[in-house]
Amino acid sequence: MKILFVFNSLNRRYCGQIFRYDIKSFRRQYSKNEDRVADLAIIGIGPGGLYGALRAKEIGMKHVVVIDKLPTVGGTCINNGCIPSKCLIKFSYNYHQVKSGVFASQGVVTSGLKLDLIKLMSSKSKIVANLSDHMTSILKTSGIDIVRGTAKISGCNKITVETDDGKRRVVEADNIIIATGATNRPFPGIEIDEERIVSTAGVLNLKTVPKRLTVVGAGISAIEMGSAWCHLGSQVTIVSNDSLIGAFKIDEEVRSKYQKILEDQGMKFVMDTKILGAKRSGNVVKVQTEDVRGGKKKEMECDVLLIAVGRIPYTEGLDLERVAIKTNKNGYIQVHPNYQTSTPNFYAVGDVTPGPMTAHKASEDGMTCVDNLCGISAHFDWINIPLVIYTHPEIASIGKTEEELQEEGIPYEVKWCTFNENARARTDLDTTGCIKALFCPHTKMVLGTHIISQHAGEIIHEALIAHQFGITAPQIGRMVHAHPTYAKIYKTIYGR
Ligand SMILES: Cc1cc2nc3c(=O)[nH]c(=O)nc-3n(C[C@H](O)[C@H](O)[C@H](O)COP(=O)(O)OP(=O)(O)OC[C@H]3O[C@@H](n4cnc5c(N)ncnc54)[C@H](O)[C@@H]3O)c2cc1C
Repeated sequence: MKILFVFNSLNRRYCGQIFRYDIKSFRRQYSKNEDRVADLAIIGIGPGGLYGALRAKEIGMKHVVVIDKLPTVGGTCINNGCIPSKCLIKFSYNYHQVKSGVFASQGVVTSGLKLDLIKLMSSKSKIVANLSDHMTSILKTSGIDIVRGTAKISGCNKITVETDDGKRRVVEADNIIIATGATNRPFPGIEIDEERIVSTAGVLNLKTVPKRLTVVGAGISAIEMGSAWCHLGSQVTIVSNDSLIGAFKIDEEVRSKYQKILEDQGMKFVMDTKILGAKRSGNVVKVQTEDVRGGKKKEMECDVLLIAVGRIPYTEGLDLERVAIKTNKNGYIQVHPNYQTSTPNFYAVGDVTPGPMTAHKASEDGMTCVDNLCGISAHFDWINIPLVIYTHPEIASIGKTEEELQEEGIPYEVKWCTFNENARARTDLDTTGCIKALFCPHTKMVLGTHIISQHAGEIIHEALIAHQFGITAPQIGRMVHAHPTYAKIYKTIYGR
């Protein structure tokens, strides 16, 4: 395979030259680099940094260094985000299913039900540690250097790392990728103590089940964590100044139905309501609110308050100014389509850059960035990034919402189907949910797919293939889908 490699002008070894190489000769080129200067250094070993480093090795870079201040590999995703939250969601749902008599109704009779929260949490921690160790060993066997400590940019090709043992280490590299992720957005005037007023990290490690959990925010993490603790027995109240829960990339009608399902499970939603402030008073938290429309003020009490009002890019202490790396007004590092920052041998990927803040976008960024950095022209389309909220049922979406199609004046047809019509959902005694499909009335191209169902996060990928590769609704309808499966809902909706 012949590939055109165009090395950027600041790359010291290949300054200004254009090469035509195949992968083997590229590997040979990099393997000549025996000096101490790394080919690539990456700050942050979350999904962006991790997959970027592995791709760099795959392509044939000789010396790749990854740096992280956390003692364990995996960034937010493995340590405080995707993985522990999904464990909590799964375990809490298991408990709920036994408690609510679902298992008993199937003849699986359990007695003496007890929640051992300490064991639940330690099981979650084991899964997190195992996955992190697994990724560490993949990095090591790939020959990637792992440096633990806090990184600061100290020159055009230099990073100074304050290592965990209090020492300083200077890492020199031809190219540097910043993959430092994001941090929780603070709520002005409300102080997190990770005991009664907690962040999304703290809520994953509560020591007891709070009787009343109030959540500020109605986005993905707010809903996921609210739902998990609701299944463990908390009275959960979601308070938000938005009118709808979920994310704006999900169709509004589907979001309303989803809210209704969660309400039926016992979650309470106080929407269109602004939080004015919150203070801990002993073992309770007093929260002041104001109705966005009428201005009516109220005070509510809870045992634990979760602040989940989104995430902001994290660049603290990096010293971006030293090498003139520009950020936008919201603090995201500005990048060109090839992920290059305003300073050519510095690149940035993942949550620290604009775009959807998901692990799958960050890892794709990491790999695509490295390809571009090595001259392999690559890009991926943000439109085709699936969005999933991992509650029970899940909600998943890809493509346009009906609101977007209306706004953009794009003609569309709508088809709906409930999981009541799905044999597999019926065998599982869980027919909650529906699919809303939007497609072009003329070309029959699929324009948007929004699903509520227990496996929505899995079956959305069939719609993703259709969106990405232009497969039409009748073409999906003609495909043979295994029976009984949740995915057969596509056959039901498009096969008629
Ligand atoms: C509760 C929660 C649940 C989530 N669930 C999901 C989910 O189910 N699916 C999904 O797709 N996304 C989920 N996310 C989002 C996902 O975790 C992030 O989008 C993803 O981790 C971003 O990857 P990243 O590589 O950009 O950064 P991160 O994963 O945040 O990694 C950045 C790393 O950089 C390190 N770092 C920062 N500054 C320095 C420095 N100066 N020196 C050294 N190291 C530094 C940090 O220690 C960190 O390890 C969730 C997030 C949260 C908070």
